[in-house]
Amino acid sequence: MTSPVVRVRFAPSPTGYLHIGGARTALFNWLFARGQGGQFVLRIEDTDSERSKPELIDVIFRSLEWLGLDWDGTPVHQSERGEMYSAAIDALLATGNAYWCDCTPDAVKARAEARGGQPGYDGHCRERGLGPGEGHVVRFRVPDEGTTAFDDVIRGHVSFENANLEDFVIKRSNGTPMFHLANAVDDADQGITHVVRGEDLINVTPKVLLIREALGTPGELTFAHLPLIVNEKRQKLSKRRDDVSVGDYIDRGYLAEAMVNYLATLGWGPPDGIEIRPLAEIVELFHLEDVNSSGAFFDVKKLQHFNGEYIRDLSLPQFVGKSTRWLYDDAPWPAERFDVATFEVLAPLVQERVKLLSEVPGYVDFVFQPDPTIDEASWEKVMVKAPELAVAVLDHAAGAFADCTWDAATLEVVLFAYSDEHGVAKGKVQAPVRVAVTGRTVGPPLFESLEVLGRDETLRRIAAARARL
Ligand code: GLU
Ligand code: ZN
Repeated sequence: MTSPVVRVRFAPSPTGYLHIGGARTALFNWLFARGQGGQFVLRIEDTDSERSKPELIDVIFRSLEWLGLDWDGTPVHQSERGEMYSAAIDALLATGNAYWCDCTPDAVKARAEARGGQPGYDGHCRERGLGPGEGHVVRFRVPDEGTTAFDDVIRGHVSFENANLEDFVIKRSNGTPMFHLANAVDDADQGITHVVRGEDLINVTPKVLLIREALGTPGELTFAHLPLIVNEKRQKLSKRRDDVSVGDYIDRGYLAEAMVNYLATLGWGPPDGIEIRPLAEIVELFHLEDVNSSGAFFDVKKLQHFNGEYIRDLSLPQFVGKSTRWLYDDAPWPAERFDVATFEVLAPLVQERVKLLSEVPGYVDFVFQPDPTIDEASWEKVMVKAPELAVAVLDHAAGAFADCTWDAATLEVVLFAYSDEHGVAKGKVQAPVRVAVTGRTVGPPLFESLEVLGRDETLRRIAAARARL
């Protein structure tokens, strides 16, 4: 018998943006499918009309596209498949695997308190023979005995005592199906072979398995529950505490390639330990069985390191192209002052230094702003703390720069003549010129910057700083 083609799905609920955890789940499904020559399909789980936000569906698609996770076929929307779920619920009612219930949440709670035992639903309506009606829900009849178990690819044997599972709701009083019902029906209908999803959903699995069994669903579903992603305090990532949506990372200037590469390390690592590598190699090396079960630390510093490496790997035109948004739409300078040819001269120096594309403007804004934005801390440190040196250096620079050849090498020689004459460290001599011209103590190499800025503007800024002193 040949094994069936692998078919996996990413099934986001459009109740929020695509966050880091969802992106990692999508990626691991995609890696598994692509590595196995299988299929990767999308399913939008939007049966909860109160919490779903249709406008987020498109954001999720675009986030996946940005990550480069292409899917097969047309995405399925659960909100359009109500009839299938109703048919499944009717079948479960007809076979006695489900029943109507009119208990209010308060009544369920009051009975649980009176029992003093386990919270949750007590099966009150199992034999009442209720039918549909205002406020009625449908519940699944969980067997009183036995266990519901499965062999998880990542977590090994997982088993739930049926006695600990309450008769869960499968149809809400507003007529919509509950998530686990739709999820079970769709995995069967879409011919899904493997469910790869976050560990936070492991409690859903026995419900899905019970529903599948009661519906007589043929075939087996293999589960792989991915480890939680945690922050440096080993807490689950939270939308409030941690910065989690893919869109946030796009806005900060991460490259998709770096992001995807980093996400692949959240719970998995290649056998040779080389983490930064092309996605095509990761597809080859990835095995679901190698994913580990302990929490995966989401380390923003490491992600930034990956990003810096990927930025340095870009060709110059690629780097300029990827920086476009920060050079035009989100630039701090007046658009008409920007000149891409000038930027291209400094770009290689900037590319060596940034970890995020959003840092690019801060390295070159001095060229495109009419006046440098003076960083007050830098001014204080260099100009205010050592005013005599600052004045002397600026006067020296003004004189030396007035008629020397205007290239970086000459500028360096004539400025550092001051160091040799007065025995002052080069860094101390550079600093006042850098702050006068660029406004900051850090930036791209000074003499190349001056060369690009030009003699007139350099001298004007030195004079302006001198006047301010
Ligand atoms: N819709 C679920 C969620 O976004 C995922 C369900 C699944 O992957 O089985 O949490
Ligand atoms: Zn009831």
